[in-house]
Amino acid sequence: MTVIVVGAGISGVAAARTMRGAGLPVVVLDRGRVIGGRMASRRTDGRVVDTGASYFTVSDPAFAEVADDWQDRGLARPWTDTFSVAGDGELSPKSGPMRWAARGGLRSLVEDLAEGLDVRQRTVEGVTPGLDVDGEAAEAVVLAMPDPQARRLLDPSLSGELAALDDPFEPVLALTARWAEASWRGFDGAFVSGNPILSWIADDGRRRDDFAPVLVAHSTPEFAAEHLGDPEAAVAMMELAVRDVLGISAPAESATVHRWSFARPTGRREQTFWLGENRVGFCGDAWSDKPRVEAAYLSGVALGRALAQQLG
Ligand SMILES: Cc1cc2nc3c(=O)[nH]c(=O)nc-3n(C[C@H](O)[C@H](O)[C@H](O)COP(=O)(O)OP(=O)(O)OC[C@H]3O[C@@H](n4cnc5c(N)ncnc54)[C@H](O)[C@@H]3O)c2cc1C
Repeated sequence: MTVIVVGAGISGVAAARTMRGAGLPVVVLDRGRVIGGRMASRRTDGRVVDTGASYFTVSDPAFAEVADDWQDRGLARPWTDTFSVAGDGELSPKSGPMRWAARGGLRSLVEDLAEGLDVRQRTVEGVTPGLDVDGEAAEAVVLAMPDPQARRLLDPSLSGELAALDDPFEPVLALTARWAEASWRGFDGAFVSGNPILSWIADDGRRRDDFAPVLVAHSTPEFAAEHLGDPEAAVAMMELAVRDVLGISAPAESATVHRWSFARPTGRREQTFWLGENRVGFCGDAWSDKPRVEAAYLSGVALGRALAQQLG
């Protein structure tokens, strides 16, 4: 019997790779037309734009090995260790850890990790004890997605599993806007302080290294929550807020918005994954005290190892 992994974001793919490496038969199911989850890269105006995660950081040696391999093969590169803080009409540089970017978009890195895995496009409706996924028997099930999405799939009789998924996620709207030319002062990314609409702006041209005049702005969770029902209505407000923060007089030539209903976990956990006696496991960025790409990867690997050990 097969282990079924639901979710082909980086955590699900990391779990599946680990189990397959240990000799277990694994199938990965994802509802998306493409895989990657919140490491999302979309083609807009003929080029790839990162509309989910903006970058990744590296601190764990195991993830550093993965990142170095991506770098050796030209898939990812250290992008910048200096972002700015935008506020009161000023951009003040602020140095921090090295942030990594991918020329083909962050999604391309998940695709790379998924190479050789059996990944199928399917929206999963339900997991019932026994164990089965939409009527298909499974040796074990991994739900690699935000808590609120995983909760929807669990049969009410899986009460221990439901109780473990207690982390609410907050929403974000991501605006992609393109100008005729970059008239703003050069910066890689800027944390926007004290703004009710925006929390972050990235220069996607510098991130992607083609210097296209494209910015990606993330909303505050509060602004996103107000516009989840009609994100299109937020485009003009977000575009104007970007121009206001960066002092851009010209309107954008194009602007689109992506809604992330479950962008980030709001809680913090010490545990790096969850695995119960029904052989249903959870992994993802919420299983961490620092929710981010690296944590999601490490969570998937940890759950994959635990299941491989349990199932022999
Ligand atoms: C706007 C935004 C900005 C971010 N910025 C950063 C950043 O700068 N740096 C950083 O490190 N992290 C950032 N993150 C967080 C980072 O993207 C996540 O930590 C990481 O991608 C989570 O991976 P995951 O595998 O846990 O979950 P996900 O990537 O969410 O994967 C879950 C997968 O499950 C699938 N799925 C859900 N329900 C079903 C179903 N019923 N059936 C089948 N499939 C299903 C989804 O399609 C998805 O592919 C950001 C996230 C967002 C949204």
